Amino acid sequence: MCNNWEKQCCPKHHIEGEIDLKTGNRKIVSLTIVVAVLTIFVLGVSSIYIKYLNQHYRVEVENGYVEELKNDDRVSKIYLDEDGNVVGTYRIPAIKDNKVAGVFLSFDASFDIEDSIIITREEINAETNRTIFRFKMMVAVFLGVYAITIIIIFIMQRKNDIKMEQIAYVDEITGGKSFEKFKLEADKLIKETDNNYVLVDLDIDKFKYINDIFGYEEGNVVIRFIWKLIDDMIEEEETFAHHRADQFVLLLKLDDMDRVIERIEKLADDANKKKNIYEKNYEIDLSIGIYPIDKRYYQIDTAIGRARLTKKSIKGQHSKIYAIYDEELRQKVLQDQEVENLMEKSLENQEFKVYYQPKFASDTCEPVGAEALVRWYNDEIGMIYPSEFIHVFESNGFIADLDKYMFEHVCMDIRKWLDEGCTVVPVSVNLSQQQLYNKRFIEEYKEILNKYDISAEYVQLELTETTLFSEANILDEIIDELHSIGFKILMDDFGTGYSSLNMLKNVDVDILKLDKSFVDDIGDPKGDIIVSTIVSLGQLFNMKIVAEGVETKEQYEFLRDIFCDEIQGYYFSKPISSEEYREKMVKIQ
Ligand code: C2E
Ligand code: CA
Ligand code: CA
Repeated sequence: MCNNWEKQCCPKHHIEGEIDLKTGNRKIVSLTIVVAVLTIFVLGVSSIYIKYLNQHYRVEVENGYVEELKNDDRVSKIYLDEDGNVVGTYRIPAIKDNKVAGVFLSFDASFDIEDSIIITREEINAETNRTIFRFKMMVAVFLGVYAITIIIIFIMQRKNDIKMEQIAYVDEITGGKSFEKFKLEADKLIKETDNNYVLVDLDIDKFKYINDIFGYEEGNVVIRFIWKLIDDMIEEEETFAHHRADQFVLLLKLDDMDRVIERIEKLADDANKKKNIYEKNYEIDLSIGIYPIDKRYYQIDTAIGRARLTKKSIKGQHSKIYAIYDEELRQKVLQDQEVENLMEKSLENQEFKVYYQPKFASDTCEPVGAEALVRWYNDEIGMIYPSEFIHVFESNGFIADLDKYMFEHVCMDIRKWLDEGCTVVPVSVNLSQQQLYNKRFIEEYKEILNKYDISAEYVQLELTETTLFSEANILDEIIDELHSIGFKILMDDFGTGYSSLNMLKNVDVDILKLDKSFVDDIGDPKGDIIVSTIVSLGQLFNMKIVAEGVETKEQYEFLRDIFCDEIQGYYFSKPISSEEYREKMVKIQ
């Protein structure tokens, strides 16, 4: 679902970015630690050393003799022999006003004082001062290096921060704001202005397929196109951003809801014009959830969550572009989530059952076929009808799994009936639009036919008119391949799409299923004309016509009289379980 799409939008860049940042951070941290340890060490050593220097005079003399004298020794002169041995010291116990206050001399009697080298206290002091100066210079140089290192670290850190900021605040695909930045801005606008706002969450229907079929770059082109459209419509004190995959979030001012809807509808309309911009001909339909923000109990994440929930409620419904949040809708979405939570386990547990609705020849009233319709029986909930779950499965893609499951179970039933020696009439199974994007679907269906050793003439495939229309560019090849296997293709819900007559011309189908809405109009003079015209037109194109949802005798007789080929509807039979179907409809040879 959404999380997969997310992956499909250039995931690599994000990951690489993160790794770079982490390595960068690690380098800076280790460098800082090393510099900090060195600094502590140098400062420690230097303070100890300076203290030491204050206490001791290190006296270096020409002949290399080194003597250490303490401060309080009050030495002013030292007498050394040629080998550097101390032969005497001239001590001044106290010096007052530069005058010697007391003198004490000690000499080695054998030593000639003229041969000695004398170091004065001034020289000692000068030497000490030089040493301290050299040392201070050394510390200064080190501190200079240290300061430069700190500046470099600071610059690196800043660069890192900017990079982080870019990743956090700039959207990679569009170059616009990131989702995080949007949240900050939206929060500020909501809290700091007097405007009322709606939070709008929108995404592109079937975006996954644009990526799958045309590639990620095409997907990104579409995202940038939508981004630009929103950017053009956004006003002052509003904000928006591309979120992950094909999702966008918008904060629009709410002066009056009609104006919001007008703007949203224009956006959806402009988005659809996309198909004229590029050669590839596909639709860009938007699903949009609108949540009017109540400032009193507001949190940005909750607002986004509710707008998203609202959007989910219309996912897969082609007739609806947008929905506005209300409590009823919240309940419905929660119910859909429950369905979503149960679906996979239910498929494993074989809770989905095939029901068969027979089709009858209009002239002889003999059963000539059946449609397989799914029913979901859950032990706790009981029977669940397609209207409660098909839209959920269509929006999350699970419908393709269900279709395959139904196809397999129909084949299984047919195999059983054939083995029991029954006369089996073709059963049509529904094929959802999503199945067409599964590149292996034809292969998989063929494998199932082989597994049960069923000829394709027993199983027909129903594709809705809308599916056939939306997928025109990939359809010819698929239909040719299905025909070559021996499948017959039905155009389901004929008459409900945008361009029904063109469909007759362009799509190579074998059987037309006239939608119930036309059958309902039988009895009305104009309705009668439309139905009989469609039936004749279809037959002129060499198609068989099946009328769906036939409920009354009048409808049946009218259809029979205009030579509609087959009748499916409650008038003859509701969908029934496979056991009942086996009993009633499949004659023993
Ligand atoms: P559909 O393919 O157009 O199926 C015909 C629907 O009309 C069925 O509803 C059927 O029970 C109902 N119907 C048939 N005759 C009459 C009648 O005389 N009067 C009235 N009022 N209704 C009639 P159902 O079984 O509830 O299925 C609804 C839709 O769910 C189907 O419409 C189809 O689009 C979808 N569906 C059902 N099973 C599957 C499946 O296995 N795969 C897929 N992809 N879709 C399925
Ligand atoms: Ca159908
Ligand atoms: Ca139908």
